[in-house]
Amino acid sequence: MEQRIVGRAASDGLAIGPAVILRALEAASRAKGSIAEEHAALAAAVVRARQAVAELIERLEGDAAELIGFQMALLEDDALTEAAYARIERGAAADLAWRAAMAEEIAGYESADDEYFRARAADLADIRDRVLRHLFGLGDDGELPSGAIIVARDLAPSTFLGVDWSKGGGIALGEGSPTSHVAMLARGRGVPMVVGLGQAWERLTGQVLVDGGRAVVVVDPSPELLLSARAEGDELMHRKANAIARQCEPALTRDGTAVAVLVNISGPADMTTVPARACDGVGLARTEFLTANLLRDEEAQYRAYAELVRWADGRPVTIRTLDAGGDKPIPGYTLDGESNPFLGLRGLRLSLRHPDIFRVQLRALARAAVLGPLKVMLPMVTNVAELDAARGHWRAVLDELAGGNVAFAEPAFGIMVEVPAAALAAQHFAADFFSIGTNDLTQYATAASRDGAEVADYADVLHPGVLAMIAHVVGAGRARGVDVSICGDAAGDVRAIPALLKAGVRALSVSPGLLPQVKAAIRELDLARRGEGA
Ligand code: PEP
Ligand code: MG
Repeated sequence: MEQRIVGRAASDGLAIGPAVILRALEAASRAKGSIAEEHAALAAAVVRARQAVAELIERLEGDAAELIGFQMALLEDDALTEAAYARIERGAAADLAWRAAMAEEIAGYESADDEYFRARAADLADIRDRVLRHLFGLGDDGELPSGAIIVARDLAPSTFLGVDWSKGGGIALGEGSPTSHVAMLARGRGVPMVVGLGQAWERLTGQVLVDGGRAVVVVDPSPELLLSARAEGDELMHRKANAIARQCEPALTRDGTAVAVLVNISGPADMTTVPARACDGVGLARTEFLTANLLRDEEAQYRAYAELVRWADGRPVTIRTLDAGGDKPIPGYTLDGESNPFLGLRGLRLSLRHPDIFRVQLRALARAAVLGPLKVMLPMVTNVAELDAARGHWRAVLDELAGGNVAFAEPAFGIMVEVPAAALAAQHFAADFFSIGTNDLTQYATAASRDGAEVADYADVLHPGVLAMIAHVVGAGRARGVDVSICGDAAGDVRAIPALLKAGVRALSVSPGLLPQVKAAIRELDLARRGEGA
């Protein structure tokens, strides 16, 4: 019988399909067999994990494929499995033997002197879990049937990226938040998603309808509901197709106000979602995802930035220096065990603690700036003194490059405005541009964590206090004669766009998948009419 479960809207759209439950590994169990059976079970799980990784490599491109390639190399290394087989011979169950062997291996990587190896511990943990999933018969994330509804307590961004969404599908989560990174990815790819379903997520089986816009998941939907949902889905598709047909046209409101629409890039796949000519440039490139494993590798970073600049083909490309920490930890670089990571050592604060790593990135950015109009952006700036300190490193790097024989340029040096104290004091920051990070600005201003399902309703960008800060930053930008844009999620939220334009914002940077509908929403607005804009 039809059963409706209400959660929180994380990504609009309708998806109907079979529920595929990703159960947490901690809850899984299996019966232990003989030594020979345990040996065979582990061997089979490793083979299946290898196959799944090989398929994933085929689908991914660029750095993502390289990252997974490292996992493949580990899986093919017999030394990794030998220790587990030895434990099985001594009587351990395959899962316990594998866990124990991997724990030793991971501890070895975590205590390595070289930061590169320390960062690889996360890959080992990923491999450990992949093999365990197969041992427990939970399947591999990479084997999810296309068009399925993924049901889980929560979902890691890497799991999301491992799924082929091109044939549809949706997500229903027991926990999670509309402002989490995986929700942002879902919106960017147009994958319907409802979060915060509570314990009810465990009951989602069979045919499931995910209505992202209405924040509802329906189990066993009636034929009437399926009919109306399909009709509504067709209408949405039709509107989407129209928006895509016009995606390369400029975004002008009804009264002729031009709004620049740029894209946020969080990984190489984002460069394939829309053609560069559809956007006015890259408003935010999140380097935590592009270069997380390459912190000391100037050449690899240079190549990643150069690829972005070439993709943008003459349009401005704003590349943010590392914003690790908070909900974006980088093992071996960010601090473990902070009581509140969002209020801890993250973003620029961490870069200033690691000047050697910061300068590698600044060097690579200055070199890539030769190839096109690149802009450097600092995340999580709180004090003017931090901007001064960052500029000090910047000058030192430029002087160093001037003394060498590699080509470099000196791009614009701007800041993200996402800390309320900085927003209210924006006029004091001598930056070349401001980009408002509404995700963090909203969570800090409303005291509601961006990844907490329980407080998601509080983290509202339309809160008058948040809008007042945005308007203040726009005013400060005008007074200083510098550009102001928004690169937080609110820029891609059609419900928030009228208020943002009313606050004076004229440049929005959005997830590439949202660009067509953002432009369509801008075209619907008339800023000359009372109530619609400034
Ligand atoms: C923001 O905080 O709005 C932002 C764009 O940065 P991130 O989401 O990467 O923290
Ligand atoms: Mg932020």
